[in-house]
Amino acid sequence: MKIAFIGLGNMGAPMAANLVKAQHHVTGYDIVALPVAALAEKGGHAAASMVEAAASGDIVVTMLPAGPQVRQVYLGPDGIIARAKRGALLIDCSTIDVETARLVAAEAKKAGFEMLDAPVSGGTIGAEAATLTFMVGGTAEAFARAQPVLQAMGRTIIHAGASGSGQSAKICNNMMLAVAMIGVCEGFALAEKLGLPTQTLFDICSKSTSQSWAMTGYCPVPGPVPAAPSNRNYAAGFTAANMLKDLRLAQAAAGATGSVAPLAAGAVNLYQLFVDGGNGALDFSGIMQLLRGAGPLPR
Ligand code: NAD
Repeated sequence: MKIAFIGLGNMGAPMAANLVKAQHHVTGYDIVALPVAALAEKGGHAAASMVEAAASGDIVVTMLPAGPQVRQVYLGPDGIIARAKRGALLIDCSTIDVETARLVAAEAKKAGFEMLDAPVSGGTIGAEAATLTFMVGGTAEAFARAQPVLQAMGRTIIHAGASGSGQSAKICNNMMLAVAMIGVCEGFALAEKLGLPTQTLFDICSKSTSQSWAMTGYCPVPGPVPAAPSNRNYAAGFTAANMLKDLRLAQAAAGATGSVAPLAAGAVNLYQLFVDGGNGALDFSGIMQLLRGAGPLPR
């Protein structure tokens, strides 16, 4: 299958590489040149421009930072909707606001394209291992058509409903993840102060009622989970800036629907403090540094 892949960052690069591994013809583009060249070295094809990439795929996949980039890449004069092949299926895997997801899908439909919002869970570890969870919004026909592509990048693929439903699921997921991550950090920080070794607490809690993915899949303290960013000085991974973005999306949705989410509101404040301290590019699990009171506290 001919696939265009736009946005080759922490997630997009390994996802595109998995499409190449699955024998698809993948043409990649990013505003940064390095990951485009890296994809070509792995057997993909480098596009010199957005227009070239957009026009190259029967399926176009995007993995961009946030709503503004998605609007620009899809709706701009040289964007995907203007330049994609007739009949191409458009799949946006970025985490963005529901409103933008619905707006862009509606514009795509007007121009004769099917579009899915298909945000993911599983982090860079899941992106590399092709074990991501996809939560997908759009028609059942488009969902069926996307299967070969999504299956090459993920393990669990769930149709959440109409356009925007994938994003609704994703912001709920990340709101829960942020709260869980802060809880794990607070527990491990307290254990340090109580003189309990990290590995001992992990061995106990990973088999107890406090077990969570934030602990056993992505432990914010170095040691117990070797693949976790905590073992490489919190190099992202999933950046704290992106977690703050997702928490704000969740807060906006909570406000709009009259939902009560006090712990998520607390998480926004903590991530804001962490990002304001110059840590936005670090992994979101780096908030451990703030919560244990080690390392320089943000000003
Ligand atoms: P990233 O910042 O590493 O990657 C985004 C890429 O998009 C960058 O390479 C950037 O250069 C490129 N880009 C930006 N504007 C562009 C444009 N106009 N045209 C082409 N390329 C452009 O971010 P990421 O961690 O890969 O995350 C991507 C999305 O996936 C975000 O919405 C994030 O919230 C979500 N997400 C990330 C993770 C994770 O663990 N990193 C997990 C789940 C979901």
